[in-house]
This record gives sequence, C-alpha cells and structure tokens, in this order.
Amino acid sequence: MDYRKEFVVEPGSKVDLASIDPSYSGRHPSHEDAAPEIRNRLERIAKLQYLLYADAEQSLLVVLQALDAAGKDGVVRHLFSGLNPQGTSVYCFKQPSQLELGHDFLWRAHLRAPSKGELVIFNRSHYEDVLVVRVHDLAPESVWSKRYDIINDFERMLALGGTRILKLYLHISPEEQLQRFKQRLDDPQRHWKISESDYSERDLWPKYVEAYEAALALTSTKRAPWYVIPANHKWFRDLAVSQIVADTMDEMGLHLPATRVDLAKIRRKYHAAERQE
Ligand code: AMP
Ligand code: MG
Repeated sequence: MDYRKEFVVEPGSKVDLASIDPSYSGRHPSHEDAAPEIRNRLERIAKLQYLLYADAEQSLLVVLQALDAAGKDGVVRHLFSGLNPQGTSVYCFKQPSQLELGHDFLWRAHLRAPSKGELVIFNRSHYEDVLVVRVHDLAPESVWSKRYDIINDFERMLALGGTRILKLYLHISPEEQLQRFKQRLDDPQRHWKISESDYSERDLWPKYVEAYEAALALTSTKRAPWYVIPANHKWFRDLAVSQIVADTMDEMGLHLPATRVDLAKIRRKYHAAERQE
C-alpha cells in the first residue's frame, strides 16, 4: 500500500475530514502484524538520514500538526528512535513570546528551519497562526486570511533552497481524544501533560475542524504536500508516518558525497608502515 498516494491532500482539492475514518488501519489487522514493516521503514530512514547528513546538500522538514493527544509527541519519539541526534532536531512551537510576537509570524519558523544536511521536525508550526489564531480570534480575519498565501510562498522559498517539506495532520476522533485524556488522568507519570484547556478546547472541535480543513486545502502543494494520517490506532499512525517519511527520503536522490582526497596517496603516505608489519 502506498500511503503517500492514499493520504495526500491533492493540491487544490477540498478537504472533508468527516469523510476520513480516523480508525482506518489498512490491510494490517494488528500492531504485531505491522511491526516488521515499521522496523524496516525506520531502518531505511536511519540509512537515508546518514546520507542526508553526509551529503549536506539538501534538508528535510517534517511538519506535525494535530489536536491535543492525537500523538504528535509519539510520532517524534517513534521517528527519532531510528535517527542519529547529530543532524536532526525537533522544535516545539508554543504560544509566541513577546519577542516573537514583535516579528512577522514566520520569523520563528524560519529561524528553526533545517540547514543543509539536517532533518528537522516541527511539533506544531507556523500553521498555528492559521489554526489556534483563527479559532480564538487572536488576530482579525483580514490578517490570518492572508497567511495561507504567505505560507505557500515561504515553503516554496525553502523548497527552492533544497528543503524537502512534508506535512502530517494526525487525524483522531473526539471519542479517542477523551479516552486518551482519561488514560493520562489514570497514569501519574503523565499527569504533567494534563491541562484544563485541553478539555475546554474540545468544545471548539468543530471550529478546529473548519480551520484545519481550510489550512489543508489551501496549503497542500506539490512541493509541500499535506497528508491526513488516520491516528486512532497508534501503531497504524507510526506505520503510515514511517512509510511516508521513508518514501519521501528515497525520492530525494541522497548519496554519499564524492571523496575529496586521493585515497591511494593517503594509504601510501600514512599506512605504509602498517602494511609492512
Ligand atoms: P502543547 O503543544 O500542548 O505544548 O501546547 C502548545 C500550545 O501553544 C497550544 O495550545 C498551541 O495552540 C499554542 N500555540 C502554538 N503556536 C501558537 C501561536 N502562534 N499563537 C497562539 N498559540 C499558539
Ligand atoms: Mg497540549
């Protein structure tokens, strides 16, 4: 199954999240059944990241967006389990600081965008400025409505500079979210994750859906596509994400850079003694 084809938001198309089943799990009946495939994809990602870093010509930006408890942190942990910390980073976008609010909304995103050779994950992103900002009227419509085009231009600029961009929306149901909140409540290790606003935001679910549908439809482009990942099953979410990331990296034509030195000369000069021994 090609999950990129299956879950991509075709540029220019409308998005109806209600028509996408968040409990979808493809042809795999269980986590156990999917586990070897997940492992295999993670290994491929690790190999490709090595090439990305070594070559230092391109970079990869993975944007993660979702409502609370949909699994953004889980995806980060899962993807990073196969990655070398060197050359990779994750940045969590919180409420903007005074300094950040003093700049244009893309300033803090641009600052954290990957440099050549890097793989960066945005846990939340510049998209918050057309999501939470729109839902909570943190800026007037005349301001946020112009941001979709601005985001497309920004991502186009990054892409032309050698950054491959893929954007993942983790799609869960309100029932699954409530169940995950309850699990947090029952697990002292995770009490720190609970905030009352997580619950109050649930009342705004339809407004968030509306804002997400607009963002996905208006900013899914050939260069920076959105994928809607059914995420009620954590293992299926991990399977789909690892496949989409691995396939995207496969397509980047990553390779080891050419050797910059004369290997024969180095062997002769510095290793001749070894050979004699
Ligand atoms: P969490 O991801 O649970 O740590 O929460 C981070 C919070 O910061 C979320 O409620 C986001 O909606 C909020 N946030 C992130 N970016 C922005 C932004 N640009 N404006 C307002 N709130 C934001
Ligand atoms: Mg939260």
